Amino acid sequence: MKTLRQYIQQARETGTAIGHFNISNIEALNGIVRAAQKLNVPVVIGVSEGERDFIGVHQVSALVRSLRQKLNHPIFLNADHTYSFERVKEAIDAGFDMVITDHAGTDIQENIKLTRQAVQYAKEVNEKRANGGVMGDSIGMPNEVLVEAEIGYIGKSSKVLDNVPAEIPLDENGNIALSALTTAEDASAFVRETGIDLLAPAIGNLHGIVKNAQPKLNIGRISEIVASTDAPLVLHGASGIGNDELAAAVEAGISMVHYNTEIRIAYRDALRDSLTQNPNEVAPYKFLASSVDAVERVVEEKLRVMNKM
Ligand SMILES: [Zn+2]
Repeated sequence: MKTLRQYIQQARETGTAIGHFNISNIEALNGIVRAAQKLNVPVVIGVSEGERDFIGVHQVSALVRSLRQKLNHPIFLNADHTYSFERVKEAIDAGFDMVITDHAGTDIQENIKLTRQAVQYAKEVNEKRANGGVMGDSIGMPNEVLVEAEIGYIGKSSKVLDNVPAEIPLDENGNIALSALTTAEDASAFVRETGIDLLAPAIGNLHGIVKNAQPKLNIGRISEIVASTDAPLVLHGASGIGNDELAAAVEAGISMVHYNTEIRIAYRDALRDSLTQNPNEVAPYKFLASSVDAVERVVEEKLRVMNKM
């Protein structure tokens, strides 16, 4: 099996992207893995700090590594938006394949400083592992952990919003104003100064789904940033974006795409229907089966677009 870095490189060479899907529990994990297996494509499982707390940092790591080994399928684990060095370190030590050190809420100098701290720690761990120095639960431990960081504000919550949050400036078409997007110059300087492996820029995207008017991605800006840096680009907040727009973003050079809200809605809606239709069912593996199917359907649809299938 290739490493995550090699799969990302492969995605860049083939003009495809790797799907990144968040989970809060094992049912969603199984739905995502089923879709990835069906299409025979690599996939990244994401867990935010809250999702990590709910499942357990070491537990989710063991689950994903166990699936990767037993199924012999490229399933990787990312510590999504991590706001402190302590939690970055915790995820790296637990055997995550990648971490996102997110300091986009601070000024750029502080962001660079905190990002470098995470990159430095990942480097030390990678060197130690390369020399056979893995401690503790080493089964299926990655040889290398990758670090992603973010510049520009793309919101924080994976939920359904009525409107774009008031602090984000919009242009006359209801899209995120150019002044709020990451520039190619800032992106390349940030990658150079921090040494990160992947970059999440602000390119018209926003976490969550905006009910009244989903802002459009700035595809031109994606192309400009791709041309300015060697770091693979990650699109966050893809929920609510149409499949044509997703395909255009991947075509422009996006290498990884994050979905959370759409999976949460599919899971919740299927569970609600299941409980309504079978009010006497008490076996969780029965009343949750349709949620696993619903997650699988959403993930399969997105993976097909990202992998040009
Ligand atoms: Zn995100």
